[in-house]
Amino acid sequence: MARVNEHYRNLAANYLFPEIGRRVAAFAEANPGAELIRLGIGDVTLPLAPAVLRALHEAVDEMGSAQGFRGYGPENGYDFLIEAILEHDYGTRGIATRADEVFVSDGSKQDAANIQEIFGADCSLLLSDPVYPVYIDSNVMAGRAGALGPDGRHAKVHYQPATEANGFAPDPPEQRADLAYLCSPNNPTGSVLDHARLARWVNWARANDATLIFDAAYDAFIQDPALPRSIYEIPGARECAIEMRSFSKRAGFTGLRCAYTVIPAECTGSTSTGERVPLRELFRRRHATKFNGVPYIVQRAAAAVFSAEGRKQCALQVAHYMENARCLREGLATAGFKVFAGEHAPYLWVRTPGGLGSWEFFERLLAEARVVSTPGVGFGPAGEGYVRISAFNSRENVDEALRRITRAFSTGAA
Ligand code: PLP
Repeated sequence: MARVNEHYRNLAANYLFPEIGRRVAAFAEANPGAELIRLGIGDVTLPLAPAVLRALHEAVDEMGSAQGFRGYGPENGYDFLIEAILEHDYGTRGIATRADEVFVSDGSKQDAANIQEIFGADCSLLLSDPVYPVYIDSNVMAGRAGALGPDGRHAKVHYQPATEANGFAPDPPEQRADLAYLCSPNNPTGSVLDHARLARWVNWARANDATLIFDAAYDAFIQDPALPRSIYEIPGARECAIEMRSFSKRAGFTGLRCAYTVIPAECTGSTSTGERVPLRELFRRRHATKFNGVPYIVQRAAAAVFSAEGRKQCALQVAHYMENARCLREGLATAGFKVFAGEHAPYLWVRTPGGLGSWEFFERLLAEARVVSTPGVGFGPAGEGYVRISAFNSRENVDEALRRITRAFSTGAA
């Protein structure tokens, strides 16, 4: 008999989004014809930018010609895309990164879940609470997180609560850990790390011989050019940090799928005997064994994001979502809600009114305003008492959602 991986039984019940989907479907069935506005799951809503679309079409035509056809591509990504990444995501900010440090993939979700494989089963973990669920669940599946307690926390993980008091961006703790996940701009709280805070994390990692896994999936939403977009803007980060970026939110690739991970040559871990091993070499081996590259047409589309036209068009998409975020922030505050973030991220973190639990307020928003939100507690126990509101939508839907929420809640909220 094939024994199952019992670590899977240690996962927290029901992944957040399927549970939201189940509740929304039940509501829709009980209320046929109800027009719901979905400010829940963080999927983009705008179509692909024209420059991206053109690149896709051209690449499809190439694939149909004898000269242009491509089969398996380089496992780590085509040079044309890696060069564009190095020039535009790093060179423009004065960061020196090399082509052989970049691994192109089909998504940051996969990268964030896969990276833990190159670390030992007994590595200790540090996560913020609330947190993007992939960081914890991938480690639970690997048996690294320990038993799930009644408080929704895993015994072998050190959690850093992200609270109103620390601006939803906790500083590093006193204690050490082997691996720490950071996400800035943050999903779900929408907070962002400035240079000083990020430098404290890099210093902590170096002092404790820890590795930081820095998820910058939302870097394009940072509005203040003085804020760091890459962890490599911090001196010393090349020795201790892995960075992940995605084309999903910055250019509408959630359905097309393209992202990349950077592992600098200097970033090492150790064996049980203390020998230093470059993490890049382990990940290269993993990538080559388990992945056969992102489709050529998708990499051509991703490279078009960096063309002059593509940069302009994608910036307009981001500006559209950030204008939604501004309207939501101001509208919800006017309606009496306590609203956080949404200035450098497409997410707002909203305190539930009257001390309601996250799921209770989710149900009330659904029933009374027909608006779908994401319960903060679904991202971790410290998210209790908050919901996440997403700015990925049309302006009409945002305005209508605000009208409905204001009508339903403006008296007695917050
Ligand atoms: N990282 C964070 C923090 C996210 O919020 C998301 C998606 O919502 C991802 C990664 C996934 O990105 P991708 O679409 O590239 O898999």
